[in-house]
Amino acid sequence: MSNIAYFEEAFVPIDQAKISIKTHAFLYGTSVFEGLRAYWNPETKKLCVFRAAEHYARLKNSAKILRMDFDKTVEDLLKITQELLEKNNFQEDTYIRPIVYKADCKIGPVLLNNTDRLCMFAVPMGDYIDTQAAIKLSVSSWKRIDDNMIPARAKIAGSYVNTALAKTDAVLNGFADTIMLDDRGHVCEGSAMNLFLVKDDRLITSAITDNILEGITRDTIIQIAAKELGIETIERSIDRTELYFADEVFLCGTGAQISAAGSIDHYQIGTGQIGSITKKLQDIYFKLVRGEMPQYSNWVLTI
Ligand code: PMP
Repeated sequence: MSNIAYFEEAFVPIDQAKISIKTHAFLYGTSVFEGLRAYWNPETKKLCVFRAAEHYARLKNSAKILRMDFDKTVEDLLKITQELLEKNNFQEDTYIRPIVYKADCKIGPVLLNNTDRLCMFAVPMGDYIDTQAAIKLSVSSWKRIDDNMIPARAKIAGSYVNTALAKTDAVLNGFADTIMLDDRGHVCEGSAMNLFLVKDDRLITSAITDNILEGITRDTIIQIAAKELGIETIERSIDRTELYFADEVFLCGTGAQISAAGSIDHYQIGTGQIGSITKKLQDIYFKLVRGEMPQYSNWVLTI
């Protein structure tokens, strides 16, 4: 069975979901997107889409920044997602990519008077980065884009060139991922994931005013750390050297899930292995995203 995509208000085989080379979004990076995961639960034989409503609320905010005329509601988007997954009949962990894009064939970057369209596809996906072993990270020499350049708070396709430069440089230098600083030298986030430190049994994560995407996994971790482990999170600016002195550091995101740092810039973090608090959070996270914690069932859309 061919993979089915949502394109121009219809479900079509993905090979037919094609845009022109003159499309504004292709010419100028003027699309916004989300990345969602649907986890396969082998017991219930159902897919569990994690915090879909929150992803779609963020998609609508990203669209607002690009002055898009995007009238689909969160409920419309949930319905399309459900239908897309049903049509593809995946029985494994899946990644869903909705995109809202400036669809007219127009030269000139202005964001006005353009048709804003939704498309969506889904593909099977396992780990994006290692979650079973601690990974090697660097601090990137590429700076994170600032709120007054391209806001990191919105998931705008064009801004991922910043991500791509940093991640590629890290990979070429033998690191699994990289940590980006802003122009003032504060820690922002990983290439496409948020970051937490563990220090003296407390969590510290960059403030939302420090040029980060306000991650849904970040929010999930703040909530489960408090409710399940009684650990509070401090949201504040983080200096680079605080990373090296932390007891534990981990990255988190829909793609990354929860991935521990073994070293940063070749400085060993903690024991160099997955730390005990990171491990506890991973155990809880992987249960709850598969719909195995009924107290969080409002976060899981079962299909
Ligand atoms: N920061 C960036 C730049 C990202 O691309 C992502 C992935 N969406 C995240 C953080 C993590 O966000 P979330 O937990 O909502 O996936």
